[in-house]
Amino acid sequence: MIIDCHGHYTTSPPQHEAWRAKQVAALKDGVAAPPRPVITDDEIRESIEGGQLHIQRERGTDVTIFSPRAAGMGHHLATAEANAVWSVACNDLVHRVCALFPRNFIGVCQLPQAPGVSPESCIAELRRCIEELGFVGCNLNPDPSGGHWSGLPLTDRSWYPLYEAMVELDVPAMIHVSSSCNPNFHATGAHYINGDTSAFMQLLQGDLFADFPTLRFIIPHGGGAVPYHWGRYRGLAQDMKQPLLTEHLLNNVFFDTCVYHQPGAELLAKVIPAKNILFASETIGAVQGIDPETGHYFDDTRRYIDGIDWLGDADRQLIFEGNARAVYGRLSAQLARQQSTEGATT
Ligand SMILES: [Zn+2]
Repeated sequence: MIIDCHGHYTTSPPQHEAWRAKQVAALKDGVAAPPRPVITDDEIRESIEGGQLHIQRERGTDVTIFSPRAAGMGHHLATAEANAVWSVACNDLVHRVCALFPRNFIGVCQLPQAPGVSPESCIAELRRCIEELGFVGCNLNPDPSGGHWSGLPLTDRSWYPLYEAMVELDVPAMIHVSSSCNPNFHATGAHYINGDTSAFMQLLQGDLFADFPTLRFIIPHGGGAVPYHWGRYRGLAQDMKQPLLTEHLLNNVFFDTCVYHQPGAELLAKVIPAKNILFASETIGAVQGIDPETGHYFDDTRRYIDGIDWLGDADRQLIFEGNARAVYGRLSAQLARQQSTEGATT
């Protein structure tokens, strides 16, 4: 089985995100937000069948761990209360996708974070999504200020109540920023990669996993700049008298394969142990074109993993399937549950 651990509902029916814009505008004007729009099952089917599901079939992948559009989270755009309503809307919509296509999509939730608000406020929505909707993880924004980085690092104790809930529920978080408030930082080209890299460095500087030995984070987009600069990070850890990164972080931190070319995928697999790499494409996402050098879509990441000819079968299986099942502790049971759903197709 090939499990893609990183997909967002970027093709949601347009009234969904249009409502968020109205909600944010209403907040600014000091008036009540309009009622949430009606979205039919047929609209959801259409948005998935011609998009993510079509691509899964074309590329021969089986299941996508699916979450709301990351850039759409916009934690910096509204209050915690408004973000809570928005998170419910987004998570419920992803749940409907998973219910309509139970063999192909497993849910991961957006958290109702807001700048300056304790992450503890996210626990109720996390629990609802895991326990009631059958989701298997969450997306955690390390910078809900959208680029100001005005909050506290991921190792600060203010995050601990959320981590305690994640450990109790046996769910990981993908560390994932949202849109950028500053045009100097292009969202997917700079802000995302900065976020990935900064989060890793925060974890390196701290000692979070001594307190939470079973807490698990996935750093997406190939781990930002980290694998490419692995020597720098090993050296910084050494200078800071931190343990070897293999002991300090690699029991808890994982990287996905969303680097959109063959040499990048090879570097990742060379530098980072196979047990720490999860297959992902972030389809349909940041980069949607065809690479003129190969004639294939940049985000057709399966080709890059298939194309690493020195990668052993056991390692390949870990990257495509085994690691996802290990990191997302509830995945295997939820997959079995969803795939036995009556009427499940494909
Ligand atoms: Zn993403």
